[in-house]
Amino acid sequence: MSESPKRLKKKNLSNKEKKGKLLFQSPKGMRDILPDERPYWDKIEKAGRETADFYNFLRIDTPLVEFSEIFERAVGGATDIIEKQMYYIKSRGKDRLALRPEGTAGIVRAYLEHGLSKTAQPLKLYYFGPMFRYESPQFGRYRQFYQFGFEILGDKDDPIYDAQIVLAGFRLLEELKIKNLNIEINSLGCKNCRSNYRKKLQDYYKKNQNKICRDCKRRLSLNPLRLLDCKNEDCQQIKSKAPVMLDHLCSSCKNHFRGVLEYLDELGLPYSLNPYLVRGLDYYNRTVFEFSAENYGISLGGGGRYDDLAVMLGAKHSLPACGSSLGIERVIEVMKNQGIAGLTKGRVKVFLAQIGQPAKKRAFRLIEEFGKAGIKIMESFGKESLKSQLKIADKENIGIALILGQKEVFEENIILRDMKSGAQETVPLNKIVEAVKRRLK
Ligand code: AMP
Repeated sequence: MSESPKRLKKKNLSNKEKKGKLLFQSPKGMRDILPDERPYWDKIEKAGRETADFYNFLRIDTPLVEFSEIFERAVGGATDIIEKQMYYIKSRGKDRLALRPEGTAGIVRAYLEHGLSKTAQPLKLYYFGPMFRYESPQFGRYRQFYQFGFEILGDKDDPIYDAQIVLAGFRLLEELKIKNLNIEINSLGCKNCRSNYRKKLQDYYKKNQNKICRDCKRRLSLNPLRLLDCKNEDCQQIKSKAPVMLDHLCSSCKNHFRGVLEYLDELGLPYSLNPYLVRGLDYYNRTVFEFSAENYGISLGGGGRYDDLAVMLGAKHSLPACGSSLGIERVIEVMKNQGIAGLTKGRVKVFLAQIGQPAKKRAFRLIEEFGKAGIKIMESFGKESLKSQLKIADKENIGIALILGQKEVFEENIILRDMKSGAQETVPLNKIVEAVKRRLK
């Protein structure tokens, strides 16, 4: 005997459905940006665009998806991002693709692919968009998060570009009126001096091998610089006595770093040296930095120089380049903490009320006529009574209400009501846009 449709339906209900709970939520670590948060995003985008414009950065948008090998080569096989956090994509083809965990690798890929070295150098680019990392979601840490980033590619490895990249990110934060900003900065040296230092670091950690965490034991042979990044308390203690890169820079890297600091001094930017700052991506050489705000424990953004990244992606020659990026969710959190408002849109100043079907139809068209004149109209098509519509206008503090009833449509008129005084006048429909314009002036 076949089951009745009713019985089948009941059987297929999940436990959640049976309990009347929501069947779907957004994936863990990924959030909806609801309209009430939008003013913060608008403010950051606007300030970001203006900052980028001022320093002549051009917008670039690369795909959210790249060949995974790009990230594996660029970010580095022995980093958390590659080992634990990549979103690999199962597609119908055989391509090994991944959601981008960061923006720089895709931009260097685009630079090489489109021969952008033939344009005026250095090429200054900026981007804004979502990144994806399979992290453990916690305060300020999501699986989908947005970054606003700046990159300077090509020309020479002049320290002034490092300083300008720091400056662009810093100015954007300043533009947003974020207070008590600090920049932590360090140099990771070049391949030569770093390999020397890496050896010293390994020797030091080998002597303390029994005091470090399991992850660090692995890092010790795979990627010793990452040892300095460990958040484990015991490892932090060991780190505090570890040799520092700054004492092992070759003379050319030392001069380069001094140059960067001198340019920052020239502008009076507030920085402090952090000899243990290494950042979570392997492509950096020489300058690395992070932005922070007082009383906010995690970094708001960071970046550094990455002259070897192009070669990692198959280029014949190295490409002098540096970049910085800001984590937008964290910037918003600090803005909220510091009482900084988002971008407020211009208030709607005119409300259009309609009574009856012919009026509703005419109102629908009239809004377009106002639109052409650049005047925003609020309406409430779902409401039928005049009283309830005017109540909304009142609540929204709107100064002018236009009232269109059956009689007015028939006589091609409309009532203009001053919401404050209650005074009303009848205006020919074909003159109403002009009449409102005059009043708004
Ligand atoms: P990174 O790309 O790792 O250099 O990070 C640059 C900035 O992006 C950080 O300073 C954060 O502000 C932000 N960021 C990185 N990972 C996350 C995440 N999982 N959730 C939110 N923001 C993040």
